[in-house]
Amino acid sequence: MTSLYIHIPFCNRICTYCDFNKFLIKNQPVDEYIDCLIKELSGIEETVFTTLFIGGGTPTALSVSQLDKLLSYIAGRFTISDEFSMEANPDELTIDKIAVMKHYGVNRLSLGVQTFDNKLLKLLGRTHQQSDIKQAVDAAKDLGIESVSIDLMYHLPTQTLEQVKIDIEKALSLDIDHISCYSLILEPKTQFYNQYRKGMLQLPDETLAAEMYEYIMSRLAQSDFSQYEISNFAKPDHESRHNKVYWQNSEYYGAGAGSHGYINGIRYYNIVPVPHYIKSMQTTGQAVKEEHHVTCEESMEEFMFLGLRMNSGISKVEFEERYGAALDEVFKNVLEELLDRHLIIEENNMISLTSTGRMIGNYVFEKFLLSV
Ligand code: SF4
Repeated sequence: MTSLYIHIPFCNRICTYCDFNKFLIKNQPVDEYIDCLIKELSGIEETVFTTLFIGGGTPTALSVSQLDKLLSYIAGRFTISDEFSMEANPDELTIDKIAVMKHYGVNRLSLGVQTFDNKLLKLLGRTHQQSDIKQAVDAAKDLGIESVSIDLMYHLPTQTLEQVKIDIEKALSLDIDHISCYSLILEPKTQFYNQYRKGMLQLPDETLAAEMYEYIMSRLAQSDFSQYEISNFAKPDHESRHNKVYWQNSEYYGAGAGSHGYINGIRYYNIVPVPHYIKSMQTTGQAVKEEHHVTCEESMEEFMFLGLRMNSGISKVEFEERYGAALDEVFKNVLEELLDRHLIIEENNMISLTSTGRMIGNYVFEKFLLSV
């Protein structure tokens, strides 16, 4: 059994830091898009998935009737055996929309909170305010959504360690079971990136960013939340099963403009612009822009740097079963160097990052690129 990702590329406002595949929903052909998405989904032969994640963009930017149309198709055609997640923005999560989600089997919501600080929310271009967050979480729980996760960001312009501490305390006061905490990355073509280049944006320096991350890890470690991935923390039994599909380098389908999939050893990428996606679906019935057959070497690299993101780490036994080669042989020099430098640790045939390694994860991951 595999997983499915569905992309809704529309938002009510464009955030200043966002480089996802998204478009301002106003004047977009949303109904045509949903029809094309359903057409694309109808071409997927598999009908039982362990996890389904509907992300974006913002799925809650859709109207109640658009959500109903998409979710009723999904519920009629597919069985989701385990986790059915949707992304949502706190101010868009109306009772009507939650009721539709619940009706069609959504059992997990991932709320784009980012921060509880109203000034920072405004700077990020978010449409919600602090007061919307608790309301959204409580409404989701009251209507029977089993699991609620929130996304937070740190290393934000002008943000202090004190503000991060307040965000974490406010998060811990909510009825949630999962927290994702991401550092702001300035991506090209975003408003923040342009402002930064013009000297109009001040970011916390690297030392303060590291202090923020360390604080988040240590404070959450004292709570009911355990860190299970570089940016993710969960109460027992509430780790994101869908995201683990990616980190375990397992296969999944992707549907919608700009979505990615990985099936039968082939990674594929869909057409990004909505009008082109719609035209392609209407004329050819498919929207794949590019396919790449993943080589054994690439798959080994991905297995390492995706798996090392998780605190549980990489199983040497699983590596050998998958690739018919011993991990110690394939990555001999890298493993020796990283063990010597205390960036990784080996215990019971598992390799994982140390807390120092976690602080400089990207540096460690690059070491596993065999082709470099
Ligand atoms: S709501 Fe999400 S997808 Fe939309 S612009 Fe903001 S960060 Fe990007």
